[in-house]
Amino acid sequence: MRFFKSIRTRLTAWYLLVIVVLLFVFSGAAYFMLSFNLRQSLDNSLMTRVVQLRASIQFEQGRVVFAGQPNELMQIYNSNGTLVQNFGPDVDSANVQTLVNDALAGENSFLTTVTTDNQPVRLYAIPLLFPFNIRFVLVVGQLTSGILTTLHTFRYVLLIAGVSVIVLAGAGGLFLASRVLKPVQHITKTAQEIGESDLSRRIDVKNDDELGRLATTLNGMIARLEEAFNRQRQFTADASHELRTPLAIMQAESTLALSKERTEAEYRKSLETISQESAYMSAVIGKLLFLARSDAGKEPLHFEDIDLKDLIISLSSSVEALAQDKGIKFATDAPENLIVTGDKVKLRQLFINILENAIRYTLQDGSVMVTLTQKEGRAITAITDTGIGIPEEHLPHIFERFYRVDKARSRAEGGVGLGLAIAKYIAESHGGKIEVESTVGKGTTFIVSIPLKKSPTS
Ligand code: ADP
Repeated sequence: MRFFKSIRTRLTAWYLLVIVVLLFVFSGAAYFMLSFNLRQSLDNSLMTRVVQLRASIQFEQGRVVFAGQPNELMQIYNSNGTLVQNFGPDVDSANVQTLVNDALAGENSFLTTVTTDNQPVRLYAIPLLFPFNIRFVLVVGQLTSGILTTLHTFRYVLLIAGVSVIVLAGAGGLFLASRVLKPVQHITKTAQEIGESDLSRRIDVKNDDELGRLATTLNGMIARLEEAFNRQRQFTADASHELRTPLAIMQAESTLALSKERTEAEYRKSLETISQESAYMSAVIGKLLFLARSDAGKEPLHFEDIDLKDLIISLSSSVEALAQDKGIKFATDAPENLIVTGDKVKLRQLFINILENAIRYTLQDGSVMVTLTQKEGRAITAITDTGIGIPEEHLPHIFERFYRVDKARSRAEGGVGLGLAIAKYIAESHGGKIEVESTVGKGTTFIVSIPLKKSPTS
């Protein structure tokens, strides 16, 4: 039902339901207590009256004589249960028979019945015992129409009060629910207005209540979305730019080479340039593809037990050749066999990316050192170089895609700007992390920590 799709109406309906139930319970209790008290006090007044009458009763010449009030309902029955004297409103003696029999048996008792003209009446009967074992029954009565009228009026008052309370509570409930939920409308409206192109907008947070906190949470979510969109946009722009430059170089080079007859050496030089640029493009595309597949969760990891010491030693030979080419000293210090659970190819890639950087950004006669230790259940691999270092303000960004401190230098050295982003992804997908410490002009240390394989006893 559409009506109940609104929280405002649902809240009001629940609130009304609670009020109606409470009203019923309290009105019922009040009505019951009033009715009980009125009847109780009527019975009490009948008993008092009987005590008064009994004090004045005498038995003279076969008749019971007493001082009754005019129009007071009184009946005297003899020991046979026959009505012998009757005062006030008439009650059919047949209706009173059980009462009279009880009194003759010595029991005082009450009865509610009707007069002959159909008026409700409450009767009280007691036995009268005179000398010589003469027995009579005194029945005293009072019309209960007064009580019934009072109860009727009370019911009427309860009904009017109840209906008024329900109507007022309903209106009040709707008003309150509208007031309380007004910020929700505001949040919904703003959220609807925020489009993909307008993610810089935020919802106004007015109060520090539940809805205020909801708005703050949504604002946080929008901020994260905005950041993600911006990153995506930046990434696409950077990727296009990164691919356009080598393409432009290849195109210019080929156009120039074809513009007139060239010597073989000139053709060779052009082809070398084109080959270099296409190798660069291929590297960029390969890394982009890796990141895209990882983002989509389509780059599966093949976990196996790997000894990091063996892995680092196996890397050393190829890295050493690179280092020698540049006149850089390369050393490893991996005293322990440390087993981690990981993807061999990916972990190799991680260390290669960092080591290639270390050699790329270290000048001749510098050194690169790999140390493997363990700490708190983790294998810690530190790759330290004595290279150019990274200025502090760039440190928080170097793991971002295509972020380079010195673009021209990186490109000239064959850097693509994706190496550290890939290394970070690989470390995190192994439950590890990469940290960096650097001093400009002195060198940089990358610290890769990966959880050690859990031994079966731990
Ligand atoms: P690139 O392909 O340009 O090396 P990376 O993602 O591997 O891209 O590195 C990002 C940037 O971080 C590099 O461009 C460089 O400016 C800086 N960087 C990375 N490693 C080092 C290092 N060992 N010494 C100095 N700068 C580094």
